[in-house]
Amino acid sequence: MSSLLLQGLHLVPMAGDPPVIEGSLRIRDGLIQELGDLAPLEGEEVRRFDGLYAFPGFVQTHVHLCQTLFRGLAEDRPLLPWLREKIWPMEATHTPETLRESTRLSLRELLGGGCTTFQSMESVWHTSAVFEELSNHPVRAILGNALMDDKTVPGLPPGFARDTQDSLDETDRLIEAYHGHDDRLFFAYNPRFVLSCTEDLLREVARRAQAKGLRVHTHAAEHPGETQAILERYGKKNLALLDDLGLLGPHTTLAHCVQMDEQERAILEQSGASVAHCPSTNLKLGSGIAPIHDLRSRGIPVGLGADGAPCNNRLDPLTECRQAALLAQYQAGPGKLRAEHAVRMLTIDGARALGLDTVCGSLEPGKSADLVLLDLDAPELGRGDPFTRLVYSASRHHIRQVLFRGEFVNPASLWEQP
Ligand SMILES: [Zn+2]
Repeated sequence: MSSLLLQGLHLVPMAGDPPVIEGSLRIRDGLIQELGDLAPLEGEEVRRFDGLYAFPGFVQTHVHLCQTLFRGLAEDRPLLPWLREKIWPMEATHTPETLRESTRLSLRELLGGGCTTFQSMESVWHTSAVFEELSNHPVRAILGNALMDDKTVPGLPPGFARDTQDSLDETDRLIEAYHGHDDRLFFAYNPRFVLSCTEDLLREVARRAQAKGLRVHTHAAEHPGETQAILERYGKKNLALLDDLGLLGPHTTLAHCVQMDEQERAILEQSGASVAHCPSTNLKLGSGIAPIHDLRSRGIPVGLGADGAPCNNRLDPLTECRQAALLAQYQAGPGKLRAEHAVRMLTIDGARALGLDTVCGSLEPGKSADLVLLDLDAPELGRGDPFTRLVYSASRHHIRQVLFRGEFVNPASLWEQP
């Protein structure tokens, strides 16, 4: 049994009252054992971090590791031209080795920014290379191959989309090889979005996800051009269509949910599906602002995501947290979404959105010892509660340590790997 005591911390557990606990946190075998006023045990390793604030490891509910090499190469376009003219052609050039490199570059930024758990939609081909690379690094992830089997979609690079059965066979191979690996890598079905898939595939994904108890992760109601095309093709709004196909449920995460009318919001609420809010991307592609305050008020789980590096162009959790908080002040009125709520989206609500809230997202006994230690007393961060300082004033430069399962993470080492 290995035991580690972290002392001298302001602990921000994101679980009940009080919001801040002064003292120490004990980690045993990668799990949080207790927190509070704790004396060292005999033979226990002790580390002091006087004055640092300890938050749960940050959670990103929607990223694309496979796109990180394309940062800066897909500027100034709305969603559909951005995909057709830039992203799909670039993704089509990936090899297993470029995907491994893209994964390492992503992890350096994600882990360096305090993100210890994320959900990623990968590309159509070679997703096993991403799983293989992730298996070497200290992180928890839900991911899957992007499903694109509709070969009539305009702008598809030759050979990029796969046959329906081939797409499904690939999911079977990935599940068999990687789902549940080390209890930290998990497969999810990733239909890219309604417009990239045949109806047959979408129905089969819904059936298989239910039968196998696996998650579904897709883009929905992102941009007016996309939702209009769905309406013209199916005669239904995006959320109503997903519901009719059987794709919505507590096992589903929808990225974006910007373009929804009242009926669609009610469908989302009743389904139990969660939302991955990607505020920077929604602004950069001109998609709009998701109604986060309203969705949260309805009890819909909402987490945060950077989305892909080419549409952000950062993968930084604190950037999205600040952006989400600022947009909510504008959209719902100052104070409707407090800084503490924004931090919840970054931690426990993000974990809940991914169905991982019994594993991570808060500092509670029995949960994984995933932590971010920050210096929030730096003079440039001013005063106020730690949530206000973290959301509005701090940046990744104030992060001093990141731990995953009780082990100290060194993101810079990712550069040194072959
Ligand atoms: Zn995305």
